[in-house]
Amino acid sequence: MVQKADPRIEEAKLKPINEVADRLAIEGLKRAGRELVGPCPNCGGHDRFSINSDMGIFNCRSCGGGDVIRLVELVQGCDFKTALTWLCGDAPVNVDPAEAERRRKRFEATKNKREREAQSYRQYARRRAFGIWQSGEAASGTDAESYLRLRGLPLAQIPPCIRFIADHPFDKKIAGQNRRLHSGPAMIAAIQAPDGRFSGVHQTWLDLSQPKGKALIYDPDGRPMGAKLVLGPKRTGAIRLHTPEGAKTMVMGEGIETTATAWVSDAVPKAAYWAGVDLGNMAGRQVREKGKRHSGLPDLSDGSDGFVPPNWVQQLIYIMDGDSHPKDTHAKLLAGCRRAMARVPGLASKIVPSEHGKDLNDMIMGEPENG
Ligand SMILES: [Zn+2]
Repeated sequence: MVQKADPRIEEAKLKPINEVADRLAIEGLKRAGRELVGPCPNCGGHDRFSINSDMGIFNCRSCGGGDVIRLVELVQGCDFKTALTWLCGDAPVNVDPAEAERRRKRFEATKNKREREAQSYRQYARRRAFGIWQSGEAASGTDAESYLRLRGLPLAQIPPCIRFIADHPFDKKIAGQNRRLHSGPAMIAAIQAPDGRFSGVHQTWLDLSQPKGKALIYDPDGRPMGAKLVLGPKRTGAIRLHTPEGAKTMVMGEGIETTATAWVSDAVPKAAYWAGVDLGNMAGRQVREKGKRHSGLPDLSDGSDGFVPPNWVQQLIYIMDGDSHPKDTHAKLLAGCRRAMARVPGLASKIVPSEHGKDLNDMIMGEPENG
C-alpha cells in the first residue's frame, strides 16, 4: 500500500482548475458567485456541473466530483496515470530531491492560501446569513405557516428554527454582477452546526397562489431557477425541526417538507426529525472505486465532511427522496449511513424510500441497512 508518491501529483494539484477547464475545452460555463456553473462535459446535465476555483475542485450532481486530476480523468475518459501525464508531462525517472522539496513547499503554500480564503469566505457567508435570520419574524400566523399547511403539514407548533420574512430579495451573481431576480415572502430556516451554533440559512421563496406554494423565479435568460437558496456553511449541519426529550432515533430527509411529512405522520414515535439540507451533506465524500460512479463507501479521512448524528442517536433513518438517479442517490445515502456508523458507537441505520402514496411508517418499519 505504501508507495513513493509520484511528485507530479502535487504539481498537478497546483494547477488552477479554471485554467485546466479551459485547456480541456469545457464550454458554456458561467460565473455564479464563487463558482463556474454550466453543462457537465461528461453527462451533459444542465446546471449540474460546477467548478470552485478557490478550492480547486469541481462537482457534477450526477457524475460526482474531485480535484483537477479527477476532472481530467472524467473529461478525457482516461485513468489516473494518463491524467497526470496530460497535466504534467511524462513521469520523471529521477527527481532531484531539492526540486521535489521546492514543489512540496509550493504545494503546501498554495493549499494553505486556498484554505484561508475558503475559511474567510465561510465566515463572511455565516455573518450575512445570521443577518437574514435576525431579520425574520416568528412563522406562526404568516405565509410560512400557510405554506407548510398547503404542503400537507399542519404543524401545530411551528418549530423555532423556522422564521418568515415578508419581503426578502432573491439575489444571484450572474457574470460577476449581482442581479435581483425576485423579491417576496420567504420561509427562512436556521442551519445549525454539530455544536448547535448557527451556521447558515435555508431560504424558500413562497407564492401561495402556486399549486406547490413556491415562487416561480427565472434567470435573465428565462430559465427556471428553483425557489430555494442556502447561505452559509451547511456541511455537517442540519435543520433541527424537532428534538423531543429522550429521543434515540433520528429521521432525516433532504428537505424540510419531506422531513416534516415524516414528523407529522409520527412515522417513528419519539424520534427526532432533522432535515439534512441537501444530499451532498447527508452523503459526505465517498471513496472512489474504479469503474463506479458511486462506491457507497464513505471517505473517512480528515476533512471529508458529511453529516454525523450526535452521540445520543442509536438509530439513524435516512429518507430517500424520489429522484431521477435512484441508484446514485441510494449509494450516496449508504455512504452517509456508513460514515455515521463508523463515527457513532453502536449506531444502526437504514434508508427508506419516500414514495408518493405509500405509508412512510410501513417503510420505516422494514428491514435495516446492512452496514
Ligand atoms: Zn455529469
